[in-house]
Amino acid sequence: MDFKNITVAGSGVLGSQIAFQTAFKGFNVSVYDINDEVIGQAKERIAKLKQRYLEDLKATQDEVDQAYNRISFYSDLANSVTDADLVIEAIPEVVQIKVDFYEKLGKVAPAETIFATNSSTLLPSQFAESTGRPERFLALHFANEIWKNNTAEIMKHPGTNTEVFDKVIDFAKAIGMVALPLHKEQPGYILNSLLVPLLDAAQMLLVKEVADPETIDKTWMVGTGAPLGPFAILDVVGIKTAYNITQAKAEKTGDPAFKKLAELLKTEYIDKGKLGRETGEGFYTYPNPNFLNPDFLK
Ligand code: NAD
Repeated sequence: MDFKNITVAGSGVLGSQIAFQTAFKGFNVSVYDINDEVIGQAKERIAKLKQRYLEDLKATQDEVDQAYNRISFYSDLANSVTDADLVIEAIPEVVQIKVDFYEKLGKVAPAETIFATNSSTLLPSQFAESTGRPERFLALHFANEIWKNNTAEIMKHPGTNTEVFDKVIDFAKAIGMVALPLHKEQPGYILNSLLVPLLDAAQMLLVKEVADPETIDKTWMVGTGAPLGPFAILDVVGIKTAYNITQAKAEKTGDPAFKKLAELLKTEYIDKGKLGRETGEGFYTYPNPNFLNPDFLK
């Protein structure tokens, strides 16, 4: 592995997780955020992750303490990247914020440093020119709760150098991820390109009153051998997130089916406190949802 020093820019939900996972796998990590107050919060947020590694991964206290000690914190961008082999950007999903950030970063980072964006919905080509080094820039997209949901989608834009792409794939593996290379730009990467149409189709069957959620899930599970159906997945995603996405689609497309679905999610689920797995009830009731019952598939 060529990389030793990794800078993570942005210490929010994903940035803190990326920083801790990277340090946990033995890299030196620098965390950058906009001011000392936010850096103070970052220290707390990252320290809290120790407990998750102890519980979920059965890591030892010594391992998580050592990981934390490999992280340094900065509110000065130039100081945070002096030795960086790779900068992983996890700052807000706002085009102008990212453009401004890459313009500044491109000026202060060493010429050989590679930049990667963790953006979920924006494409790397939107920022490639702002970085001043388009050939050393690409997307490296993680999932929330990175230590358990360990996918890393690595996506080129048309100008990314192949050697840079390969190095970032190796890095993703070195921090314990399942590396998933995308050779072309694709909105939603691979996972959401598959998942979003599936979840939309399932919800349309419900809103058109073709079948109930359990029958739809049962069909998918028996028909494909999948362990979860689309409504069980929606419970994991969270009904609020599903509602926000549907509401945005209703406004954008004016499609009455999306409007009806948004209303249904609100009145039948959100207003009744059924927000999904997190609250113990959504389309199913937890911890013993019907789909886990061996008779469900009969
Ligand atoms: P967040 O709001 O939790 O954190 C953003 C952080 O960026 C904050 O700490 C903020 O202080 C900092 N910040 C703001 N402006 C900055 C700047 N100019 N320079 C440096 N830092 C700055 O956001 P998040 O949920 O961690 O998302 C960050 C990125 O990761 C987004 O691009 C998002 O699409 C992507 N992502 C999020 C998730 C998720 O589940 N939350 C999953 C995958 C990818």
